[in-house]
Amino acid sequence: MLDCHPEEPTVRAPKGSLPPFWVRIPRMSDDNGLIKAAKEARENAHAPISNFRVGAALRAKSGRIFTGCNVENATLGLTCCAERVAIFKAISEGEHGFDAIAVAADTDTLTPPCGACRQIIWEFCGDVPVILTNLKGKVERTSAGKLLPNAFDASFL
Ligand SMILES: [Zn+2]
Repeated sequence: MLDCHPEEPTVRAPKGSLPPFWVRIPRMSDDNGLIKAAKEARENAHAPISNFRVGAALRAKSGRIFTGCNVENATLGLTCCAERVAIFKAISEGEHGFDAIAVAADTDTLTPPCGACRQIIWEFCGDVPVILTNLKGKVERTSAGKLLPNAFDASFL
């Protein structure tokens, strides 16, 4: 787990404003930290069969970041994607409530979550931003709702 805002820049409010306070530079710098965490998590991918290495970083509303990488095994069918590893790791540590997830892969066309991960992202995170990135610095933003329209969830049970 990483601290969400280790090098996040801040700016001081103009002199004379009441009271003196620090203003958080919004979203983009937060997302940069999330993207960096996803890329670092990718380094731990266990993908000896496909060599398709993916990292994910999930930001909780508490500010904590949970990372995951894809983990293959000999059956292939039991492989778990980076996104689900990150989400299950967060849930297993008692975290609930998330506000973004980033996914990093080494592909020119950015890699979106698979169908299984879209379902899990929707169920545990709701309609959060999904940030796709690659190692060349390309970034695209979408959302869980766009990736999984008309989603099934517990509200139907
Ligand atoms: Zn997946």
